[in-house]
Amino acid sequence: MIDSAKHPYKPSVRDAAAGFCILVIAGTAAFAAGSPDPEPAPAESAAEDKTAAVTAGTPSAFSEMAQKSTIVAQVMPAASENAPTVSKAGERLAAGGKDETPLEEQIEIDQILQEEEQLEEAPAELEPYERLGMSLDDWNLILVNKEHLIPEDYEFELVDTDDWQRIDERVADDLEEMLQDCRDEGYVPIVCSGYRPIDKQERLFEADVRKFERQGYSEDEAIELTAESVAIPGTSEHEIGLAADIVSEGNQRLDDEQEDTETQQWLMENCWRYGFILRYPRDKEDLTGIGYEPWHYRYVGYEAAEYIWEHDLCLEEFLGITEPIGDYEKAEEEYEEEAENE
Ligand SMILES: [Zn+2]
Repeated sequence: MIDSAKHPYKPSVRDAAAGFCILVIAGTAAFAAGSPDPEPAPAESAAEDKTAAVTAGTPSAFSEMAQKSTIVAQVMPAASENAPTVSKAGERLAAGGKDETPLEEQIEIDQILQEEEQLEEAPAELEPYERLGMSLDDWNLILVNKEHLIPEDYEFELVDTDDWQRIDERVADDLEEMLQDCRDEGYVPIVCSGYRPIDKQERLFEADVRKFERQGYSEDEAIELTAESVAIPGTSEHEIGLAADIVSEGNQRLDDEQEDTETQQWLMENCWRYGFILRYPRDKEDLTGIGYEPWHYRYVGYEAAEYIWEHDLCLEEFLGITEPIGDYEKAEEEYEEEAENE
């Protein structure tokens, strides 16, 4: 079994998410209090600070009504019983409900609860990668697909894998560790494709186009069909050394049956621990532009891989792209225009 503490420095997504929530709530309280100090304040003193912020004219996260009700409650608690929209506590009291909490305190509690509700209802403005504090410029998050062609100036160093394939040197140790752990479990993974220079990708693509043409398709149809399963040259992660096609010794064909092999099942379940994701998952074809490939692993780093795995995302979704993938031709035109302008 794989020790989940293998990478103890890697915080779990759940921890990170919890930390994020705490940070946001604390940050909001600090903002409401007009203080840059993000220290979480105890509920009571936070409420006092909010009142201070209101009186000092500092921007507050609270609604005007909530602010007024706090002031009213503090200045003349009895008056707020007559105010119809003061708060839930006020309503309860007005309706004759038995609430033994002092009104002033109850109003403050209600405000804190209201604030928390608002936070929960607020649309998630941050994309997953942003929540993890990552940037689109991070080398391990580079997006390569039909809409995102490999930048011309993209640079990387390659090293050999044990399987005579080449891979980006920043990825090699994690790949080897994953393969070794997989072997230690009794399976036989084989890297059948690592780095692939663009001319090799072109030959591969061309060969498939010819295959479809022989089956009677027009050239355009053949290109379209090929592009569903083979990355168009210039849009393959193999060309930047961040992807590895890994097969099982028992089935070395790149087909759906790959997922039935024990080797592949182990890899799909554990790859995230080493910073890899299954790049073209089932049912994400609209977003990735490539059909299900239970053998193509892409390096994105531990944290991103764990998040993607836990939330069942594809890389596009992790990067905030939730629209179906667009037209390659258009992307290519834009890419060429950009290159000309530079
Ligand atoms: Zn591949």
